[in-house]
Amino acid sequence: MTARTVFVAGGTSGINLGLAQRFAERGDRVAVLSRSQDKVDAAVASLGPEARGYAADVRDADAVNRAFTDVADTWGPIDVVVSGAAGNFVAPAADLSPGGFEAVVAIDLLGTFHVAKAAWPHLRKPGASIVNISAAQAWLPSPGQVHVSAAKSGVDQVTRTLAIEWGPAGVRINSVAPGPIRGTEGMARLAPTPSAEDAWTRAVPLGRFGEIDDVWQAVAWLTSDAASYVTGVVLSVDGGLSLGGSSAIAAAMGA
Ligand code: NAP
Repeated sequence: MTARTVFVAGGTSGINLGLAQRFAERGDRVAVLSRSQDKVDAAVASLGPEARGYAADVRDADAVNRAFTDVADTWGPIDVVVSGAAGNFVAPAADLSPGGFEAVVAIDLLGTFHVAKAAWPHLRKPGASIVNISAAQAWLPSPGQVHVSAAKSGVDQVTRTLAIEWGPAGVRINSVAPGPIRGTEGMARLAPTPSAEDAWTRAVPLGRFGEIDDVWQAVAWLTSDAASYVTGVVLSVDGGLSLGGSSAIAAAMGA
């Protein structure tokens, strides 16, 4: 299998780290970026001797640019970008400060734009593929999640718009929207108790939390030649959760 150059923004914990590790296992050269130097160091150590890491905030466009330039200077054109840096917490809109709303939109949405824009000059053209990590909240309004819904719906519109603008250069860009994934920080915040976990499980037609490997299978396909005619889609990997609409998520959130 040909080794590719892969950049995972927010790739130092949870789902994104799991994706970075699976790219490394298939023989790709992997770079990760996140704020915490300790998390970056631990992630790089788990990704093999060739891996590279950058302690940077996706809100800082210059820092993201420097990281992509360094990867391209070291390894050449970038084949795959996964953009998954995000923050989440539950807060009803009436209690949410402007700063809290702004922080999530800045990390998830502005950060996704910074990552794509920093990647663009260094992408392999034709052939590169970008996957933005979205969420069902992007199209299902969810109680306590106005900041996430606003940010992730914007992420999906970045996906669709860049698919149109960058398609002629042979660059594909898609979103993957995971459902509740077991053992992640995101679900620790949305389902902090066993009864909350049960409520989420009942909201999923397939009757279980997803695994990081479920997300990987979708990302592996979207970034492979098998998906060479697929761009601008939002692929749910959620066990059918989103089929239940906003009421399913509201029930899961105990609203
Ligand atoms: P997680 O473990 O908290 O991972 C988030 C990653 O983003 C970490 O590596 C974090 O590292 C990094 N990050 C956060 N803010 C950043 C910033 N400002 N600049 C750079 N990096 C930043 O989260 P997760 O639960 O696995 O979620 C991963 C992705 O999947 C997110 O996009 C999330 O919205 C999406 N998702 C998750 C679920 C789920 O079930 N967990 C469901 C739907 C969608 P640092 O702290 O070092 O910055």
